[in-house]
Amino acid sequence: MQPAPARRIALLGGTFDPVHNGHVALGAHFMRLLQADELVVLPALPWQKAALKATPAQRAEMVALAFAGQPFPVTVDRRELERGQPTYTVDTLRELRAELGPQASIAFLMGADQLQRLDTWHDWQALFGLAHLCVAARPGFRLDALPPAVAQEFARRAAAPEQIGKSPSGLTCMAPDLALDISATGIRAALQRGTRPALPALLIPPVVLDYIEQHNLYKE
Ligand code: ATP
Repeated sequence: MQPAPARRIALLGGTFDPVHNGHVALGAHFMRLLQADELVVLPALPWQKAALKATPAQRAEMVALAFAGQPFPVTVDRRELERGQPTYTVDTLRELRAELGPQASIAFLMGADQLQRLDTWHDWQALFGLAHLCVAARPGFRLDALPPAVAQEFARRAAAPEQIGKSPSGLTCMAPDLALDISATGIRAALQRGTRPALPALLIPPVVLDYIEQHNLYKE
């Protein structure tokens, strides 16, 4: 009997304050490129960001609403929120690796802004022993001007998206063709001014905007 093929997981971490269409597009784009089996979305209690506006439970609920109805399996993993204190990504990846086993392909997704600061992440070089790193372009952030150590590591591990699902960890890939100028900061600013963001359905899933209005979020 043939052994079952290893599972291919795409993992999207973030603060999602609030979740927006940049996140949904990032997840969907890589699910397609990598032909992954499941997208796991991992809302974080961040080390590196100023105080968040929505509660952890609200951020997780908005994430679940935003990704409902995607044509691929999505799980919202609340482990970092339930821990009640910030967790390093590398520690969460160690846990997930132990749960999913050594064969599973795990691809950690991020936008170019995060890649530019990857060398500030705790024990960032250990990430490659646990997962692949797949990065999408993001307007305002260059993919070709990275801290030298990150650029070097990224280049020597570079692979085509089709390769990612065939091994457990250690490769990098880029999606230079995603160009969505959407940020949670911009959406919070528009909501704070008391305006629904211009062209809201392009920026944020309408169900999430409804949730924000029902819960009176981001008013101040
Ligand atoms: P903020 O504006 O509050 O900093 P954000 O919009 O960057 O938030 P995060 O929750 O911090 O949202 O992002 C989670 C992940 O999604 C990060 O890896 C980030 O780079 C990526 N991401 C967010 N928006 C985009 C986008 N428009 N295009 C590509 N990647 C994105």
